[in-house]
Amino acid sequence: PAPNEPRPIKRLEESLVNRIAAGEIIQRPASALKELIENCLDAGSTQIKVTIKEGGLKLLQIADNGCGIRKSDLPILCERFTTSKLSSFQDLQSLATYGFRGEALASISHVSHLSVTTKTKDEPCAWKACYADGALVAPKPGLTPDPKPCAGNDGTTITAEDLFYNTPTRLAALRSSSDEYARILDVVTKYAVHNPNVSFTCKKQGFASPDVSTPSASSVQSNIKLLYGASIARELLHVTASSEARKKRERLKGKGKARAEDEDPEWEAEAYATSANYQGKKMVLLLFINHRLVDSTRIKRAIEAIYSPVLPKGSSPFIYLSLVISPQHIDVNVHPTKREVHFINEEQIVDDIANAIQDEVVKSGGQSRTFEYQT
Ligand code: ADP
Ligand code: MG
Repeated sequence: PAPNEPRPIKRLEESLVNRIAAGEIIQRPASALKELIENCLDAGSTQIKVTIKEGGLKLLQIADNGCGIRKSDLPILCERFTTSKLSSFQDLQSLATYGFRGEALASISHVSHLSVTTKTKDEPCAWKACYADGALVAPKPGLTPDPKPCAGNDGTTITAEDLFYNTPTRLAALRSSSDEYARILDVVTKYAVHNPNVSFTCKKQGFASPDVSTPSASSVQSNIKLLYGASIARELLHVTASSEARKKRERLKGKGKARAEDEDPEWEAEAYATSANYQGKKMVLLLFINHRLVDSTRIKRAIEAIYSPVLPKGSSPFIYLSLVISPQHIDVNVHPTKREVHFINEEQIVDDIANAIQDEVVKSGGQSRTFEYQT
């Protein structure tokens, strides 16, 4: 057609559409792993073992001892929007589990060679299924796509091989497997701190000793010590804040009736933050909102504002912060990757938490200055 004539509109091929959509959710091996870890935790696992080859691009394997997947669910497991975790919009609004819309496995199946081995406690054996583009596929030419019986323990092992093999531009953007492995370790480490009752290991395939390994009956504090080091663990301040504590304060000041009670989200926060005596090179922030690892620009800025007057220029704190908010007040659905989270009364809640942390940090700084004075 001539340059000023409209070109006909065509539908993109479905497989291409799915690949594009998958690429938005699974941006790199570490984002696939995050989804898979959350699934393991949703399944009630107490042990999660991650095995990696070439930064997760060749192999990303995660084995758990959770509830397993029913054999009868395997055919639709990797279809888009299939989930055991919600069935109505109401559920979406009051969601307590990690996963929430059945897109992770579907996405991974569009951009890798995916296989699943799983056993529920009621099955006499495990079942292995292979997937491509959302559907069961034969593991080899000549075989049927049906799940095959095999040996295996209770729980689920998910294996994604050759991630992004069919999206060459994405693959080219992720050339350094050591960088991808560092990101994977970061995700595993953070989830391990937040889930001290779950034993995590992460290792490279073919290596005997894991790079991350936590015991199963640990605590947040001892996992921080184990994974981030004693010099951080030594300086940790424990801080809590909650909607209850706030209401109490307001009642004392006689302004408790200022807002309608049920408009206020119920929330609870617990933090371990380094004192004014710790000076890190880069800020380390482990932020969990309703047990998901997320980003919040507002919280990050609030933390920077606490420490910048207390720490020397160029040094930064370590902070672990877990915030649990009544789920109907949270909007995790803003973006498919669900990294940046927003919630009702965000400003006020973040203020409350920041004030509680600031009180402790300032106190700790006061102590150290007095101490320096005396010597
Ligand atoms: P979502 O987590 O949003 O439901 P996913 O694609 O991540 O979507 O998973 C789809 C479903 O597969 C889950 O709802 C769950 O029933 C099942 N599933 C996935 N991983 C596991 C696992 N490790 N253990 C048990 N069930 C799992
Ligand atoms: Mg999920």
